[in-house]
Amino acid sequence: MTENTDILETIIIGSGPAGFTAAIYAARAEMNPLMITGLELGGQLTTTTEVENFPGYPDGITGPEMMIQLQKQAEKFGTQVIIDTVSEVELGKNVGDIHIVKTISGKEFKTKTIIISTGASAKYLGKDFEKTYRGGGVSACATCDGFFYRGKNVVVVGGGDTAAEEATYLAKICKTVYMLVRKDYLKASKIMQDRVDLTSNIVLMYNTELQDLKGDNNLVSQAVVIDNLNNEEKVLDVDGIFIAIGHKPNTEIFKGKLEMDETGYLHVKPFSTETNIPGVFAAGDVADKKYRQAITAAGAGCMAALDAEKYVSSLDHH
Ligand code: FAD
Repeated sequence: MTENTDILETIIIGSGPAGFTAAIYAARAEMNPLMITGLELGGQLTTTTEVENFPGYPDGITGPEMMIQLQKQAEKFGTQVIIDTVSEVELGKNVGDIHIVKTISGKEFKTKTIIISTGASAKYLGKDFEKTYRGGGVSACATCDGFFYRGKNVVVVGGGDTAAEEATYLAKICKTVYMLVRKDYLKASKIMQDRVDLTSNIVLMYNTELQDLKGDNNLVSQAVVIDNLNNEEKVLDVDGIFIAIGHKPNTEIFKGKLEMDETGYLHVKPFSTETNIPGVFAAGDVADKKYRQAITAAGAGCMAALDAEKYVSSLDHH
């Protein structure tokens, strides 16, 4: 029994690319990792159809298929995967302290190290039409999906840094990028605003909100937008809608326990996965508001397992 009595070497929280890569490395280092998957087994990639930019898949692979492969690989080397969600953690303060991980189903585990890979969720507007066209034109990731809209017209919703970045990225690939900004100004940093201003195929539409989407067979062909000052409607012929209103890292259970920035991203030391608590490591989107890719999450998962392994061996040599 792993519960209550045993002290585990590592618990991995989250089953996205960061978690499974950490599991592969930790299992091969004979740490007997326990993974607690969370509600979304496989993480964010399970919500997408084609992944074309993960190295090693020249013909692309579906997100769910890739995650099944990663799980198989992690289990093959001895990772124990349990479908449960972490509800609370009690973290030690000093090197060598034991940490406690509790789950919503009432399980409790003791562990020397924790690898947090709980990811982040893109924020959506919360409208029904987004759900109807998710995967059929609605996206929250230009780096992931922009390529599918090359030479086409797209909309970017948002006026902050995320939106400005997505719009300038898409402008290189797409014909016209309509940027819908709810207010009469951009919230993005000055440098990002300048980049938007200098890009001739970005059409800034201030005081404008996305009202509805139209299309056939769940494929977007038009966006209905409204001027929020005079309620005037306009219809834009577009194939892609990029919602760029920010991301929310899944870190509620770590509030007050680990250092994080004002938006909830966990702090890790530069070129490391160490958090401010010894033996607690963070990898992937939960600690990365910049790159947010499967390959960078996987890379960080590898680093976290190596960091955890080194930490445990240093304890053994004390
Ligand atoms: P995630 O994949 O976010 O996984 C987080 C995990 O943590 C989940 O398993 C969840 O269940 C678990 N979790 C959360 N809270 C708890 C808890 N309390 N207890 C236990 N578990 C918990 N990237 C690419 O490189 N290429 C692409 O083509 C691509 N396409 C994408 C398409 C879409 C629609 C989306 C949304 C993202 C896409 N991305 C793509 C981005 C990529 O999915 C993420 O960068 C990557 O999944 C991050 O991995 P992660 O392991 O950090 O976290």
